[in-house]
Amino acid sequence: MELWQKNLKSSITDPDELAELFPCDPASLRPVVEKYPMRISRHYLGLIHSVGDAVWRQCVPDALELEEAGLLPDPLNEEALSPTPCLIHRYPDRVVLLAASVCAVYCRFCMRKRKVGCPDEGVGTDELDGALRYIEETPAVRDVILSGGDPLLLPDDELAYILRRIRRVPHVEIVRIGTRVPVTLPERVTPRLCRMLKGFHPLYVNTHFNHPLEVTTQSAEACSMLADAGIPLGNQTVLLKGVNDDPAVMKRLVQKLLTIRVRPYYIHQMDLVRGAGHFRAEVRRGLEIMKGLRGHTSGMATPYYVIDAPGGKGKIPLLPDNGEFMGDMLVLKNYLGEMIEYPV
Ligand SMILES: *Cc1c(COP(=O)(O)O)cnc(C)c1O
Ligand code: SF4
Repeated sequence: MELWQKNLKSSITDPDELAELFPCDPASLRPVVEKYPMRISRHYLGLIHSVGDAVWRQCVPDALELEEAGLLPDPLNEEALSPTPCLIHRYPDRVVLLAASVCAVYCRFCMRKRKVGCPDEGVGTDELDGALRYIEETPAVRDVILSGGDPLLLPDDELAYILRRIRRVPHVEIVRIGTRVPVTLPERVTPRLCRMLKGFHPLYVNTHFNHPLEVTTQSAEACSMLADAGIPLGNQTVLLKGVNDDPAVMKRLVQKLLTIRVRPYYIHQMDLVRGAGHFRAEVRRGLEIMKGLRGHTSGMATPYYVIDAPGGKGKIPLLPDNGEFMGDMLVLKNYLGEMIEYPV
């Protein structure tokens, strides 16, 4: 067993263990954990400075998760867009392959909390084979996104098997891996993993930092190893109330990401997911945050702010309103709020 696998085993999964370390009431957490499992890696646990801080809120269960408030378990209609289990085909030319069902930390706001970490939701060999066959038989697919759960929690050989099968398909041009291990279990990024991944270029990794506190020396080291293997790194942040719904926090986050060679790609408006409603920040807040980024910091640091339209209708980028046509002029508003006329 590798070190990261040993470390993963020593994660906190039981409210009583958490209560030994922090003042909290395990009895109130138990019903939540029965429905939506808890796992906090030792690394991520170490980032908690105090009860209720930005890291705590992301990983410690809350009774509010049991409130349903009209929200749906699968608002993006992923199940209906699955031609075969563990594969989502929503856009013409790319698919999401749910290659793993577990994560190093179960994020309380996860948009797949209906299934991620649930005991009967493991990805079986037959399901995986069915999904790989779908990719092989569907020439329109030129981009395969490995997601889950966290694909980097698969052992190296299983991941290599999947990548090898995908790479053999002539119409697949690129592969992306979506993973939170650089944040939650950075020791998973080993030299051996990087050597293996390097054999499957063009390969992209999108990771998932939500707060500047998550950008640690260990995370920087993990990202550096991936980048040195020639893998372009992007980041997908979720806009989370009480965690990062603040222009200053978000600006610091995107700036720090560039220092560890990670390019901010998306800020996601929180989906209307059952069990995560308490994390939803208003869209107006998201637009304010975008206003606080564009022009005020490097364009390289500025991601797209997207709403993933309910029902699986796709990601739609939102911009703070900055242009209006007036006759043959486009009146643009710059980041300082100044009006600029531009001939069309
Ligand atoms: C987000 C997503 C993608 C990838 O979208 P990009 O905008 O290309 O990054 C593909 N399929 C599904 C189902 C998605 O949710
Ligand atoms: S790492 Fe991603 S898939 Fe896993 S719980 Fe967090 S948000 Fe969900």
